[in-house]
Amino acid sequence: MPFCEKCGTPLHDSAKLCSNCGESQSVLPPPPRKIPRNSRFRNLTCL
Ligand SMILES: [Zn+2]
Repeated sequence: MPFCEKCGTPLHDSAKLCSNCGESQSVLPPPPRKIPRNSRFRNLTCL
């Protein structure tokens, strides 16, 4: 269970805002599942 980064209030896993202080929680975005098939784009990502 995540906790508020500001006040330490336990939050729901899907909570984006603290219910106590309203601090926005830094939720990591889901990893991209799409694999670029464009070779040029792939070269850019490999830099
Ligand atoms: Zn809080």
